[in-house]
Amino acid sequence: MARAAILERPGEGLRIAEVTYAEPGPHEVLIDTKACGLCHSDLHFIDGHYPHALPCIPGHEAAGVVRAVGSEVKTVKPGDHVVSCLSAFCGHCEFCVTGRMALCLGGDTRRGKDAPPRITFADGTPVNQMLNLSALSEQMLIHEHACVAIDKAMPLDRAAVLGCAVTTGAGTIFNACKVTPGESVAVIGCGGVGLAVVNAARIAGAGQIIAVDPLPEKRALAEVLGATHTLDASDPDAAKQIIGLSNGGVHWAIEAVGRQASADLAVAALRRGGTAVILGMMPLDCKVGLGAMDLLSGKKLMGAIMGMNHFPIDLPRLVDFYLRGLLDLDTIIAERIPLDQVNEGFNTMRAGHSARSVVVFD
Ligand SMILES: [Zn+2]
Ligand SMILES: [Zn+2]
Repeated sequence: MARAAILERPGEGLRIAEVTYAEPGPHEVLIDTKACGLCHSDLHFIDGHYPHALPCIPGHEAAGVVRAVGSEVKTVKPGDHVVSCLSAFCGHCEFCVTGRMALCLGGDTRRGKDAPPRITFADGTPVNQMLNLSALSEQMLIHEHACVAIDKAMPLDRAAVLGCAVTTGAGTIFNACKVTPGESVAVIGCGGVGLAVVNAARIAGAGQIIAVDPLPEKRALAEVLGATHTLDASDPDAAKQIIGLSNGGVHWAIEAVGRQASADLAVAALRRGGTAVILGMMPLDCKVGLGAMDLLSGKKLMGAIMGMNHFPIDLPRLVDFYLRGLLDLDTIIAERIPLDQVNEGFNTMRAGHSARSVVVFD
């Protein structure tokens, strides 16, 4: 039995209830969850802006300790400290084989329709697993290709935020953009993902790092993490200011919010040949585009889901960056809360003020 945060009806928040986990199948891992960050993507499902089968357990940014493994599991063992990642990969589809495992749809990492469910209520009713993880629970039962072992010196509350926000932000700089030292980067939105972009841009040796956010406290955090300039996103002249500061526009403009206006700002801030990268989950009817002159100027536009990670390689490297003092996760985490306060944590997120709330389990 484990206590978990259940989403039953969008718009009504989460309810804490007891759930039961099946025995691990051959490639499955049972994990005692130690920490789970609250991510804006959870909110899209909790508030009903994106659909999901119900009831389900949200949460997809977690770290924990392996309790048990299935008969065929080779990558982790009981007692290992692990970070989970929603980019569960099958290992044999076109995307996996061509090195773009973040695009894998991961069908073979889930149980088949006729197999008994991984998670049930005490009365046997199935509970749907969200994004291969369902981490807002004292335990997780996941495919071995949805977690990776890390150095035990790494504090698990800080390890948790590597699972989504930091993998997305840092992966965008290292994997999707492959920023060359000296290139300029604008970051639109300074929540957990945006701050990780700023921090990774500094690690990569970016030249100007221009952080844009409407809230002064988030701009202040961006300066701590390496922003060389900050701007108010609500200023109607924001694009003009970025172009002025960067002498004609930035090489990379990274949207880390999921709003039409910030995506449009990313495109407007580009220099000739520059690339806009959209990371946020925008409302489903949004469209971002390049005009005729943008295309004639060699500008580019792309998505970079989950930072186009290869998380089994990337996550231990990010842990190493933290342990060496290069990656600042302490600034990204605003508060630690118990599972019972998960709804309050999401309310704080709706208000827009905190960088990252992390649920910690004893
Ligand atoms: Zn997330
Ligand atoms: Zn695959």
